[in-house]
Amino acid sequence: MRRHVKLGIKQLTSGYTKGQLTPQTVVEHALEDAVKLQTLNAFIRLTPEQARQQAKEATDRYAKQQAKSNLDGVTIAIKDNFCTANVPTTCASRMLENFVPPYDATVYARLRQVGAVLLGKTNMDQFGMGAGTVDSIYGPTKNIWSADLSQDNWRIAGGSSGGSASAVAAGLCFAAIGSDTGGSTRNPASYCGVVGFKPTYGLCSRHGLIPLVNSMDVPGILTRSVSDCVEVLNAVAGPDAGPDSTTIRKTYKKLTLPEVDQINLRTLRIGIPKEYHCEGLSAEVLETWTKIADLLETAGAKVHQVSLPNTAASIFVYSILNQCEVASNMARYDGIEYGHRANDERSTEQLYAQSRAEGFNNVVKTRILTGNFLLLRKNYDDYFEKALRVRRLIAEDFIKVFETSTETDRVDILLTPTTLTDAPLYKDFSSLTNRDQCAVQDFCTQPANMAGVPAVSIPVRLSKAGLPLSLQLMSNNLNEQLLLTVAHWIEAQVGFDCLQSMNKT
Ligand code: GLN
Repeated sequence: MRRHVKLGIKQLTSGYTKGQLTPQTVVEHALEDAVKLQTLNAFIRLTPEQARQQAKEATDRYAKQQAKSNLDGVTIAIKDNFCTANVPTTCASRMLENFVPPYDATVYARLRQVGAVLLGKTNMDQFGMGAGTVDSIYGPTKNIWSADLSQDNWRIAGGSSGGSASAVAAGLCFAAIGSDTGGSTRNPASYCGVVGFKPTYGLCSRHGLIPLVNSMDVPGILTRSVSDCVEVLNAVAGPDAGPDSTTIRKTYKKLTLPEVDQINLRTLRIGIPKEYHCEGLSAEVLETWTKIADLLETAGAKVHQVSLPNTAASIFVYSILNQCEVASNMARYDGIEYGHRANDERSTEQLYAQSRAEGFNNVVKTRILTGNFLLLRKNYDDYFEKALRVRRLIAEDFIKVFETSTETDRVDILLTPTTLTDAPLYKDFSSLTNRDQCAVQDFCTQPANMAGVPAVSIPVRLSKAGLPLSLQLMSNNLNEQLLLTVAHWIEAQVGFDCLQSMNKT
C-alpha cells in the first residue's frame, strides 16, 4: 500500500529520468491503492482512462529524454469544483451531478501543460460550503489518521477540500488542488497532516473554478512537503488576464527554496497575534504554537506579540459577505441556464423553484435565503455595506503589522494555529449545524481570505490521540518566497512523518 509515498516530487521525477520507475507503473499502483482505500471516500471519481493515457505519454517522453518539467508524469488530484474538459465536475451537488465542462480550469490546464497526470476528482462539501467534507451527495470523506476507519468513531478529514487532503495524506497522489475561500485548503491539510497553501488573492487564476465567494476564492495546493508545494505553485501561478481579470498582471517570478542550512532567521520578525488565543483552543495546539515560537526565537528570529484588533469581528463579517455572494452566485442555477432541471411543467417559476429545491442541499439553501435577506434594500446598508467596511478594517490590521507599524513593531510573518484542535470525530462534528461548524473551524483561517494575504498550514506533531496538529503562517501580499522559506525551515526542524498513518491502513 502507498508504495511511492516516501518520495518527493523531485525524487520521483529523478527516478523517472534514471529509468528506475515509469509514470505508468506509478499510475497503476495509485489506481490500485485508490480502490483499496475506497473507504476514505477521497475521490468522487477516478479518471483511469485519462490517467493511463497521460501516463503513457509521459513515459514515452522520459524514454526519449524529452520530459517537459519537474512535474512530468506526477500524479495529481483535482477538487471537483474545478472544470476538467470531458470529465464531470459536480461540486458534490445534485445541481451539477451531470455537468461535463467543455474546457479546463486554468490551474489544471497549466498542470497538464507541464505533464502532470490526473488521477481523479476529489470529494468536497457541496459547492465548497463547509469545513468537514461531510456535506457531499457522495457521502463524507474520512481521515486516514483515524484510529479505526471501519467503526463509527472515525475522524473527519476537514473541509471543504477534504478529498484532496485525504488523497495526498494517503499517498495516492503527490499533489492535489483544493480551493480556499475561508480556509478550505488549510483546514483539511491541518487535520490530515499535509501542507496546505493559500496563495495571495489573484496570484493563481480562478478561471474554471466554480465560484463560491468571488472576492475571496483562490485555488489552493495540498502536498506532503513545502518543496512539492513550490513545484506546483511555480506551474500554476501567474497572470491569466483574459479569462480571469482579477489575476495579478505582474509576471510571476518562480520561487526557489534555499537549502535549509542556508536559511538565516536572524533578520526575521515573527508576530504572534494575541487575538488568536481564542475560546476553544486546545491545550495541545497552544503548546505546539508556543513550542514553534520558541524554536524560531532560539534560531535567532525576533518573536513578539502583535494585535490584529478586528479579528473577533472577522468571522461574522466573513459569514455575511459569504452568504451575500453565495446568493448572487447561485442564482445562475435555475435548471434552464445551468444545472439540474426538475421534471415540473406547471410553470417557469415552478420549474425554477423545483429544480433548485432538488438540486441544492440545506446548507446551500440556507445561505441563499440568508444572503438574499441581507441584500434586501432595507437590510443592505446595515449588513452588506457595513460588513464591507469592517472587511476593510480587517485588511488594514494586516497592512499595519506587515507594512506601516513602526520599525520595532513590524513583522514579516504571523504564526497562528490553523485549527483549534485535532480532527474531530465525525459523530460529534456532524451533530452541529453548518453555521456552528464553520464558526469554530474558520476562526483562524478566514481573516487571510478577507485580507487576500498568503497563508500556509504545516503539520508539526501528533496529538495524544495520534492525530496531526498543525500551525499556520501568514505573510504580506505576494511575499510567498519568504512565507514558504520559513515553512520549509520549520518543516525540517520538526520532521513530521506523514508515513506514521501507514500503520493504520
Ligand atoms: N468553511 C468555510 C465556508 O463554509 C470555508 C469554505 C471554503 O473555504 N471553501 O464558507
